[in-house]
Amino acid sequence: MSDLTFLAVHAHPDDEATSTGGLYRLLANQGVRTVLVTCTNGECGDDPDGAKPDADHFDGDVVAAVRARELDDAVAVLGIDRLIRLGYRDSGMMGWPQNDDPDCFWATPVADAAAKLAVVLMAERPQVIMTYNEVGFYGHPDHIQAHRITRAALGLIDYEPTLYYNAIPDSVMGIMRARWEEEGRRQAQEDAAEGIVREPEGPPMVDGEPLIMGTPDELIGAVIDVGDVTDAKYDALAAHASQIGDSFWMKMSKDEFKLAMGTEWFLRVTNPQGLEGVVTDIFAGYRS
Ligand SMILES: [Zn+2]
Repeated sequence: MSDLTFLAVHAHPDDEATSTGGLYRLLANQGVRTVLVTCTNGECGDDPDGAKPDADHFDGDVVAAVRARELDDAVAVLGIDRLIRLGYRDSGMMGWPQNDDPDCFWATPVADAAAKLAVVLMAERPQVIMTYNEVGFYGHPDHIQAHRITRAALGLIDYEPTLYYNAIPDSVMGIMRARWEEEGRRQAQEDAAEGIVREPEGPPMVDGEPLIMGTPDELIGAVIDVGDVTDAKYDALAAHASQIGDSFWMKMSKDEFKLAMGTEWFLRVTNPQGLEGVVTDIFAGYRS
């Protein structure tokens, strides 16, 4: 056993698998202690029949119960040692009425949630922490709030960990965007054939500005090869069947998935170990 501990602060059940699934499994295989903080219960996800929160008879508590079990399964697949659910209600996408629910994560004072997180950090003392950037990577209120409480919690603890944000380099984002757009066009054609007309979705916006999801390649601080554990990453995503059962990931073969999902990238935000350039080990500077 090592004395290394990794902790990620994620917004919803399934986020741990999409952006850190490979890293979690890789670290577990190395004997590193791994901790997951999931901030919300995911009430605004799809219900088991695929209905969205604005549908009649949609019950967010049922969705949360399903997602809680799915998260347990994903945690087992990824070998995560400890799962902490902060238990906030899902805030939905920006502008949704759920944003105004006083029990939702977005409406929770940052200081309150940060204090809870700081208790976990002080107990676990992770050397390396991961969360999202200030726009929550893609503008979701719960992801932005995960960022805010993590930054605030770092100000409440008595040591400085190395903080990373998940990131996709611009060069890779271009390829992914082309794939999403192709998938969107294909879906629109399928819908049109069934007589369904959907409003085309514009680019995601944050504070009136189009959201920039990619990170300039030269700013990437950690490139983690998770190619040896993509089967586990796939299985962790598959565990979240109610949310991503028919996503483009699940349509890939495991070989395709390995090619597409075999790398995870991170932006280094705090650097107490004085690291320079790109590291290929998230615990660079901490291994003896
Ligand atoms: Zn999420």
